[in-house]
Formats: sequence, structure tokens, C-alpha cells
Amino acid sequence: MIIGLTRLLTLLLHYHSSQIRIPFRYQEHPVPVVFVAASQLPTPFGVFTMHGFLEEATGKEHVALTFGTVADGEPVLGRLHSECLTGDALFSLRCDCGFQLEGALRAIAEEGRGVLLYLRQEGRGIGLLNKIRAYELQDGGADTVEANERLGFGADMRDYAICLPMLKHLGISSLKLMTNNPRKVKALGDMGIPVANRVPLQLGHNPHNSKYLATKAGKLGHMLGKLHQGEVERP
Ligand SMILES: [Zn+2]
Repeated sequence: MIIGLTRLLTLLLHYHSSQIRIPFRYQEHPVPVVFVAASQLPTPFGVFTMHGFLEEATGKEHVALTFGTVADGEPVLGRLHSECLTGDALFSLRCDCGFQLEGALRAIAEEGRGVLLYLRQEGRGIGLLNKIRAYELQDGGADTVEANERLGFGADMRDYAICLPMLKHLGISSLKLMTNNPRKVKALGDMGIPVANRVPLQLGHNPHNSKYLATKAGKLGHMLGKLHQGEVERP
């Protein structure tokens, strides 16, 4: 009877401890993801392999494009690209996303190996329709951060935890990351995917996005401008 009670208590304690989750640390913030299929994806820059993933909790469908051999343990030229329908597909000049997407794919093909994760977190995580609401406020004079906050959102709602199972599936353990955003470098490092170096990706600047890019640099800490235009930088 005593042995039975002790075993019951042990089981209860084990069950309880398995339910404890420390939030917002990537190690304790696993994102269940299922790899679904892979196919070829010919592009103007070269033939990529497209890997499709399903994020189980949200039903979001994410994609990784790889080029060449990426699972050899060497740092891989890469980009974490969050979906921007307006910039990526509708030729918007309000942001720099479409230019960065094209520039990253071109650079990967020229390098001969690399990866681009296409993450379905539209509008820095607020969704397409809320992004249009935010643009409406920006048409009235708000900047991108003020507009998000007026709508009740944080300035940047993106979460990069989904990258870890995708990169693990692809056998990638280290990146040469094409980004101007130090938050991505830190997120990957916190997940145990070291960024060997940061490759600036300053493209597509035009009169329509100058205020937006100035806000990204001033309020969101993006590394833009001549100071950060160097070829490669160690974080
Ligand atoms: Zn965009």
C-alpha cells in the first residue's frame, strides 16, 4: 500500500512537471510542425527545392526553398523571409520586402547553396487585413509603429520559433544570415542556430518607403544606411 502510494505521488509529480513550460525561451517553446512534401521549383535565378511544412497549432503552411547542398554542417547562406503579399506578389513600393525576397534568392543561386524560409506571418504578424488598416492610418500620417499600436498590436508580432524545426529537418545548423534585423540574429542564436555572420540586404529604397525604412531603423533597430552596408559582418 505504501509503495503504491509513493508510486502514485511520483507519477503525479512527473505529470505535473511535464506540464510546466517556461514561456518565450525557444528551447521551451517548441512548435509542432509536420513536413509534408518537397518538389522542384524553377525560378529565374535557378532551380530550387521547395519543402512544405504544416504548423499544427495554427494550420499555417510554411515553405523552405533550398539550393544545392545545405546539410553538410557548414554555415549556409540564408534568409528568414516573413510573408508580405503586397511587397512579394503585388509589386508594392511601400516596403522593401519584394526587393529583399528577389535579392536573397538571386544571392543564394549565385552562391550555389543556401536556404530561404518563407514564413506565413503577414504584416509583421498582424495579418493582411490588419496591415491594410495600418496602411490606412499611415496614409493619414502615422508611422508604421504608431499605426500598429493604434490598432492594439505590438510593433513587431513576428515569432521565429517555427524556424527551428524547419532548419533541423533540412539538416542546417548554422547560417550566414541575410538581414538588416538584429532581432532575427538573436532569435536564431537563442534557438541554438548560430549566425556565423550577418550579410546586409539593403535593397529597393524609393521615395514611397523612405519614411517606413527610417522608422524601421529608428524605432525597430534595423541596421540600415551607409554604416551597415558592408559586405559581411560578424554579430
Ligand atoms: Zn513588405
